[in-house]
Amino acid sequence: MPQPKVAIDYQACDPSFCKDNVCASAQVCERKVLRQEKPGELPDIYPSLCLGCADCLPLCPKKALLIMS
Ligand code: SF4
Ligand code: SF4
Repeated sequence: MPQPKVAIDYQACDPSFCKDNVCASAQVCERKVLRQEKPGELPDIYPSLCLGCADCLPLCPKKALLIMS
């Protein structure tokens, strides 16, 4: 069975909805799967590093993160 991985819906993601324009989901992920270069920028995603723990999901105010299996 493939490991479930996080995916980002870039249609939904909008950093202006996030406190100080900082991606809270990127901050909580210890694996650095989500990386935001600067506040206000869309986060990049490195799904191969993701453990599928889903810790990042509830922090996103736009519900832009999903776990894909
Ligand atoms: S993924 Fe969610 S928490 Fe991260 S910048 Fe986009 S809207 Fe904000
Ligand atoms: S599911 Fe877990 S490992 Fe994957 S991006 Fe979210 S917090 Fe990081």
